[in-house]
Amino acid sequence: MILHTVPVLFQWLFKTRLWKKSAGEDTLYLTFDDGPVPGVTDYVLQELAKRNQKATFFVVGDNVQKYPTLAQEVISEGHKIGNHTFNHLNGWKTKNPAYLSNIELCDRVLWDVLGIKTELFRPPYGLIKSSQAEQVSKFHTIVMWSMLSGDYDQSLKSEVVLRNSIRYTKAGSIAVFHDQLKTTKVLQKILPPYLDYIQENGWKTDVL
Ligand SMILES: [Zn+2]
Repeated sequence: MILHTVPVLFQWLFKTRLWKKSAGEDTLYLTFDDGPVPGVTDYVLQELAKRNQKATFFVVGDNVQKYPTLAQEVISEGHKIGNHTFNHLNGWKTKNPAYLSNIELCDRVLWDVLGIKTELFRPPYGLIKSSQAEQVSKFHTIVMWSMLSGDYDQSLKSEVVLRNSIRYTKAGSIAVFHDQLKTTKVLQKILPPYLDYIQENGWKTDVL
């Protein structure tokens, strides 16, 4: 079972992490994790461009190195890029020095390949030790979420993923999707109707 929203108590316990934004009442923050991956990220870019919507992409440094043109396209389309480590590491399973240097490596690739610096970081799997978060938050805003689409959960039917995504989308929501190979099929089903839904209902989108 997935928790599509994050309990308030939990958000309060981890105040140093960003769970939602309180900008305009009709603004949403779409985020896509794990790319850039050819065949998926370009699809997402295309769908966002059709509706003139903006998103934040938490990229894996290794993928940026492999697919620099696609990563560059994310930026030139007006979206924002955040750090998602170089090797998609699980913070709970990684020693602090290795975890921190993997984040640094991703930052370095973003600078070398794309010429950008990002203040945004999202821990893969949402898992980060407090001691790691303490270090990371000196240089980055740790971005969590308030709406988890469940697009990566292969046991869920796409209609369910879409329905839940719509149900739990609220003002200031930080919504998580994944542009990776495993979610390609489900994204093709849910992304167009979800993006249409938010547009038809007057929601604006913005980068973080
Ligand atoms: Zn991830």
